[in-house]
Amino acid sequence: MKVRTRFAPSPTGQLHIGGLRTALYAYLFARQNGGDFILRLEDTDRVRLVEDAAQVIYDTLKAAGLQYDEGPDIGGPSGPYVQSERKDLYRKYAEELVEKGAAYYCFCTPERLDALREEARAKGEQFKYDKCCAKLSPEEVRDNLEAGMPYVIRQNVPTEGATSYNDLIYGEVSVPNADMEDNVLLKSDGYPTYNLANVVDDHLMGITHVIRGQEYLSSTPKYNLLYDALGWEKPQYIHLPPVMRDKQNKLSKRHGDASYQDFAGRGYLPQAIVNYIALLGWAPPDEEILSLDELAEQFDLSSVSRSPAIFDEDKLRWMNGEYIRRLPKEEFIALARPYFESSLDDPDTYDLALLADMIQPRLETLDQIPEKTAFISRLPEFDPELYRHKKMKVTPEGALGYLRAARPVLEGLAEFTVPYVHDAMMKLVEQLGIKNGQLLYPLRIALTNTAVTPGGGIETAVLLGPEETMRRINLAIENLADYAEKQGA
Ligand code: GLU
Repeated sequence: MKVRTRFAPSPTGQLHIGGLRTALYAYLFARQNGGDFILRLEDTDRVRLVEDAAQVIYDTLKAAGLQYDEGPDIGGPSGPYVQSERKDLYRKYAEELVEKGAAYYCFCTPERLDALREEARAKGEQFKYDKCCAKLSPEEVRDNLEAGMPYVIRQNVPTEGATSYNDLIYGEVSVPNADMEDNVLLKSDGYPTYNLANVVDDHLMGITHVIRGQEYLSSTPKYNLLYDALGWEKPQYIHLPPVMRDKQNKLSKRHGDASYQDFAGRGYLPQAIVNYIALLGWAPPDEEILSLDELAEQFDLSSVSRSPAIFDEDKLRWMNGEYIRRLPKEEFIALARPYFESSLDDPDTYDLALLADMIQPRLETLDQIPEKTAFISRLPEFDPELYRHKKMKVTPEGALGYLRAARPVLEGLAEFTVPYVHDAMMKLVEQLGIKNGQLLYPLRIALTNTAVTPGGGIETAVLLGPEETMRRINLAIENLADYAEKQGA
């Protein structure tokens, strides 16, 4: 039996972290078993549909590397893979369920249902449909249908006994039948509800392992009753614990930052997001930084934890930094380019390989690039206090002297490259009989007017080029001289 898993999102907006984790686990499980991973769009709730959401799902799965074997945009033998294109199938099986007594036509008006709901509320009870239409005779049903009365088809759940199944993660789940509702299977608009569609599709698509969120754990017995009524073999169920923001609160769409797109837009790398998401509920045997192939090798669905996973953005940031550092330089530059473009007037006038050397080791997310490179195109205001560093024995007065000494040396350089500037500065340090930092620290401040920057004075000078370097050194000398004069006065 070939393993077949599916990811079945509703196209209602962005792809959220919890959803992506479901997709990832289904993908990894299919991969490691030489099986198929299928994408199906569950778009039968027509009011919740969001335009372009399907495209967002295709793009996200592709960006994350979760390539599906069958799906709406690529087709496959069990298509169509969009539920709204399968309406006739659901009707056929809904009618078959009616014939078998596992479902019935319900003609109750919205007014009657509202009154029942109101009654339940007044009694402080949970609303449950009263099976009124289950008692209609076949003739009454036929007459109503012929008269064109609007109807839904409801599941006919037994009122006694219990229905149980075995979930791979949660173990035995048993629900008294009396606790289950006669849910609508086919709506009056002819669309199925999830209750029917998930069963019909998982069966017809040959899904062997249903991997989905824990919110379906207790309604699965109801779906199993439909499998039984139709004489179909049930899949293995794997319900996943929720992803939480903290112990009390679910990570939800309302918290804005919980979607894949948000993280990608804030400079997280797809591989880092995927790697981190894999750890939400599962722990690898040793190394945590794992490629998709390594995850597919090591992932173990049966050891997924039952307790809710807590989403820890600090850990994701750390992991993202690791991924950024491991990027080949060219790839880093390509990914960083849009961020360079937002902070540098004209990125191509700079040695981007040198800039990459300076910042690549110091980033956790790519969107830190503009802030860390802001000084390059726009020198911030002079601040004499930046030239004070106790441990390095740097003072504004000392800085002024050393910068004055550095100026002619830098001006006279044959080549303005890191080795040349470095040698010249080291010689000067020796001549002056000072520590490296006493010269290099003021040099860096003069060039950046920023307390913390990526890279030291030498790389910064080379990055800015000789002209801009001299302009900034001259400016610093002028400002420091003014300052010293005012101090002296
Ligand atoms: N469309 C459902 C959802 O987005 C899918 C649940 C399932 O995987 O069966 O929650």
